[in-house]
Amino acid sequence: MTVLELRDLAVTYRTTAGEVPAVRGVSLGLGRGEALGIAGESGSGKSTLAMALLRLLPRDARVTGEILLDGEDVLTMAWGRLRAVRWASASIVFQGAHHALNPVHRVGDQIAEPLLVHGLATPAEARRKVADLLEQVGLPAWRARGHSHELSGGQRQRVMIAMALACAPHVIIADEPTTALDVMIQAQVLQLVRALIADHGVSLVMISHDLSVLAATCDRLAVMYAGRVVETGPAGEVFRHARHPYSRSLAAAFPVVGDPASRLAPRGLGGDPPHPLHLPSGCSFHPRCPLAVDRCASAEVELWPAGERHAAACVLVHPEGVTA
Ligand code: ADP
Ligand code: MG
Repeated sequence: MTVLELRDLAVTYRTTAGEVPAVRGVSLGLGRGEALGIAGESGSGKSTLAMALLRLLPRDARVTGEILLDGEDVLTMAWGRLRAVRWASASIVFQGAHHALNPVHRVGDQIAEPLLVHGLATPAEARRKVADLLEQVGLPAWRARGHSHELSGGQRQRVMIAMALACAPHVIIADEPTTALDVMIQAQVLQLVRALIADHGVSLVMISHDLSVLAATCDRLAVMYAGRVVETGPAGEVFRHARHPYSRSLAAAFPVVGDPASRLAPRGLGGDPPHPLHLPSGCSFHPRCPLAVDRCASAEVELWPAGERHAAACVLVHPEGVTA
């Protein structure tokens, strides 16, 4: 059963410099209990997509397409309904919990807040629930009385996960949940996320620039480049047998989970991704592509079947594609 489905999702930011097409026609599905990883270099539109899912984008963002959460379109929902859906049906864990936690309030009060706001618990019940949530993410209950500055980066990220779990949502969106953490802590947090998915049957959208992190955590992967999905398929297959040259360079760039050396630019891939205001013609990746042929500068290839539930947008995969 599909819990979340994106149909031709597009997000354009209106700026003084022009219209910035940050997400361009993304269609993806997420099944119950499934973990979908979204990979791509910085600037590929991952956070824009994540924020669009719960309509958290700034007002200057124009969103088109459909975002079906349990069959209901998030984009046309009334505000009251949207508020109920946020946290209770789907919730987000952001990158760098440092900024997301309020330094002034006690950790426990922040975890309890959505429960109280949504009328899901009395204050006494919320306190018990907070202790329970902290235990689930591997923190002692007394941490509830402390403040976020007393926690390490990994502990803060655990608190963020406890907050995301508070209202028992069935979809969790995690945007670079471990990027700011060192490798050991990152592995622990990922293990926790995996265990929570297995125990609670929640569905996960996990975003990272690091394909190896996603391959270790997710069932399916979608690779984004310049606002588009260029490859999607079973995690192992996309990681080990990528069909799009961009996915291949990402897989080669991150051979080991959390390798700090490859955190910024994928190894072996020259140049930078294009800014959405200045997209190359044809396939956006062609100026950096080691396998590009003449046709790539003009042909914009759609996602094409490249195996069982596997698709890639490349002339090398397309039936009318050229052989290099
Ligand atoms: P990622 O999360 O993959 O790094 P983002 O979704 O943050 O990518 O950004 C995608 C593109 O949209 C980038 O080119 C970025 O500069 C642009 N962008 C992001 N937020 C805004 C905004 N509020 N206004 C204008 N452009 C934006
Ligand atoms: Mg981002």
